Amino acid sequence: MRVQFWGTRGSIAKPGPSTARYGGNTSCVEVRSARGTLVILDCGTGGHSLSQKLMSGGAKGLRGHILISHTHWDHIQGIPFFYPLFAPGNEWDIYGPRGLGQSLRETLGGQMQYTYFPVPLDQCRAKIRYHDLVEGTFDIDDIKVSTHYLNHPALTLGYRLEADGVTVVYACDHEPHTRILATGEGRMTGQDLRHAEFVEHADLLIHDAQYTAEEYPAKVGWGHSSIEYVLNLGQHAAVKRIALTHHDPLRDDDAIDRLVANAQANLRQNASSLDVFAAVEGQVVEVAPSGVRGSVRLKEEFQAERLIEPTLAERSVLLGMADTKLTATLSETLRAEGVQPKCFSSVEEARALIAKARPSVAILEHHPPYLDGMEMCRAIRAQENDHEYQLPVVMVAAQENQAAGTAAGVTDWLIRPFTDAYARTKICSWLLRTACQRSRVLISEDETRHSAGPLVRGRRAPMAQRGIENKRVSKNVIRTDKSALLWMYSRDIAPFETPAFSKAVGDLIVRATKRPSDMRDRSAVM
Ligand SMILES: [Zn+2]
Ligand SMILES: [Zn+2]
Repeated sequence: MRVQFWGTRGSIAKPGPSTARYGGNTSCVEVRSARGTLVILDCGTGGHSLSQKLMSGGAKGLRGHILISHTHWDHIQGIPFFYPLFAPGNEWDIYGPRGLGQSLRETLGGQMQYTYFPVPLDQCRAKIRYHDLVEGTFDIDDIKVSTHYLNHPALTLGYRLEADGVTVVYACDHEPHTRILATGEGRMTGQDLRHAEFVEHADLLIHDAQYTAEEYPAKVGWGHSSIEYVLNLGQHAAVKRIALTHHDPLRDDDAIDRLVANAQANLRQNASSLDVFAAVEGQVVEVAPSGVRGSVRLKEEFQAERLIEPTLAERSVLLGMADTKLTATLSETLRAEGVQPKCFSSVEEARALIAKARPSVAILEHHPPYLDGMEMCRAIRAQENDHEYQLPVVMVAAQENQAAGTAAGVTDWLIRPFTDAYARTKICSWLLRTACQRSRVLISEDETRHSAGPLVRGRRAPMAQRGIENKRVSKNVIRTDKSALLWMYSRDIAPFETPAFSKAVGDLIVRATKRPSDMRDRSAVM
């Protein structure tokens, strides 16, 4: 794979003599497989020069894929100036993390509204397809892509690309989940361990390294890493090479030189084989196979673009807090995402709500002596009998206690103080993960039923069997916009349905989701 950096600056473009060598443009990386598949990671202001290069080879017939980590300005500002999107005859796919509200297309279109830009996004003349992603996997021609949520105050995806026998991982913007790790010391546990697994055995890891450990205490919650943490991560995850990027706009070229020299000296001292450099705008890196095979598709495969509306529609969040101000703040945050919080103050209430409301996430506060969140978490875990999926429990506390948390069954932490954006993002990522997991269960149930044997055909099946028939098409239902809406609609009205109405909705779903092969089957017996 061939990698070229077109933008290496973080947060805001910073052109000028002090940044001339490492570059002043914001995040944009071009990746090409040996077969020529073009993937662009983020489209900050660096995307402008890349677009000029692409157009210089002829404007027509350009085909490429833009993977957006998140929609903060420094990662999307190149899109309105990315000329291949405006030329007819070109074909582009744009991917980014799906949110709970507006789509990726709407968000990208927002920065091109009349007030901000003279040409709206829908006037781009290239054929553009938009892909709203969750955590999972998908293929772009010969490149296998895996996605994983990063820790940032906006829904952000890291991308792991595998092709030509090599692995390139792009993780920008990201902050260690456990703050102590920013010092470069400490053990990877919990969500930090998940992040390490995601980057494991990368031949090239392109990672956010905006700050130093010394600067980090003043930047907690800003969603960026220290260089010391990235080096620790790289060694832990047996990464071959690290490109430090998202350089702080206040850091001049000489300062970056010094940081890299220090990092290399530390690695030599530790006899580490890890190679580290700071990404330079314009730099080309040929990534050759290292001989050590990367762990391909670490997670159970789940289509990152699967439609999860049916399971996402059921979202609800439990809040178990002692602090009323905190309850009010989090409730407001949840309502901004269209989620109605369900508050409880005792273990009994929590149990009743879990049984009745089937929540997607529980947020508990550990604030002794007012509230023992750990005890409450243990009580919730003791009640669980669903082995297919464990309710994510996010613990709000003044500091982490990983050992006690793991023992109690805590999934993730929200350490005070935190910003609204940070809490909102963390909650959204867990709501989306729960919806994905429930979709996964639904699909596997569907597949189990599907393989159980042929359906009764040629006569009207009894009600129970028609239920099975509707389940049988749920795989198609999830993959089809219209049918997913129908499915949700029918679920909403299910408690009030009459047999005649149920039959009408059932028939409608079957018709909406029928594949051509099903239609042939059916006509043969009718
Ligand atoms: Zn950024
Ligand atoms: Zn950002």
